[in-house]
Amino acid sequence: MAAPNEAANKDNSMNKPIRAALVALVRNSDLNGIRSTIRQVDDRFNRNYNYPYILLNDKNFTDEFKEGIHAITKAPVHFGLLSDDHWGLSPYVTEEKVKSALEYNKNRYIYGGSYSYRLMCRYQSGFIHKHPLLQDLDYYWRIEPDVNYFCDIPYDPFKYMRDNGLIYGFTTTPMEIQKTVETLWDTTRKWMMENQELLPEESFVRWVVNEKGDYTRCHFWSNFEIVDLSFYRSEAYESYFQHLDRAGGFFYERWGDAPVHSIAAAMLLRKEQLHWFEDIGYYHPGLRHCPNKPEMAARCICGPRSDFMYRSICNRRFGNVGNVPKNETLLLA
Ligand code: GDP
Ligand code: MN
Repeated sequence: MAAPNEAANKDNSMNKPIRAALVALVRNSDLNGIRSTIRQVDDRFNRNYNYPYILLNDKNFTDEFKEGIHAITKAPVHFGLLSDDHWGLSPYVTEEKVKSALEYNKNRYIYGGSYSYRLMCRYQSGFIHKHPLLQDLDYYWRIEPDVNYFCDIPYDPFKYMRDNGLIYGFTTTPMEIQKTVETLWDTTRKWMMENQELLPEESFVRWVVNEKGDYTRCHFWSNFEIVDLSFYRSEAYESYFQHLDRAGGFFYERWGDAPVHSIAAAMLLRKEQLHWFEDIGYYHPGLRHCPNKPEMAARCICGPRSDFMYRSICNRRFGNVGNVPKNETLLLA
């Protein structure tokens, strides 16, 4: 049993207010979509907690946008502009090569020809956690326009993360489109070999690397993620991001922030630090998760039926694989 003064200290830290926010990168044209999301997050959870919303944009928000947001929520809202050194072409790629990559990929996969989509993915991979409005936060919960939150959340997920030592929380685990990440794993492997001192003694890397040594394409769908930001601020994460940026794949291919965050989490964290919020029923265009456990389903408005996460190969793999020690990690890679 803990000595009484130790227990008191622990209690004290458990009750400390949590520095956290709901964060979205949005355009002025996303007003209706993000109003819908904020309204649902408030109704399901945040009206009891009043965590601030932080909305970020590469262009100035219009007055109409700001008024539209304030009209839908009583929680504090902060509007932020991105700086040019965070939102833009990577210094390691050439405009000409990017242009021909967009042309080549435009009919190969969704957003294959989109330049702004690539800026968005690079920003969410390497810069969002560096925005001044996020600098005092310990956790962020990423939200997006036009998603649905189906279930009442009768507790504080941020507190749940903190009290359980969790670093990364997710709801869905799809498989990435191969053509968008053709060289991501080889590039990752190179970083691992060159930066062995930054790898943890044990990691969940097996989730992202299969028996043949290839990327499983499993990822956490990052349009929902609750993250202990010290992870993205860590030396290892920053070094990994810089390495990826130098390789050019955010532009020459279409590396998404979802596979980047997910590979980093699997490679740098232990399974016990990752958490599936199974009880948070969620829809983002393309994918739906509706809890089927009776005690969870009772709080949801999505009908209980066989849903994505109960069939997801990557979710099954999440359950089936465990941590590997560092020396094995290097052999796998
Ligand atoms: P998808 O979920 O992969 O289909 O991509 P989305 O279009 O939903 O974009 C992901 C997030 O980034 C959303 O929150 C968008 O509002 C935001 N976003 C995408 N492109 C831009 C952009 O050019 N500027 C800004 N400010 N936000 C963007
Ligand atoms: Mn989206």
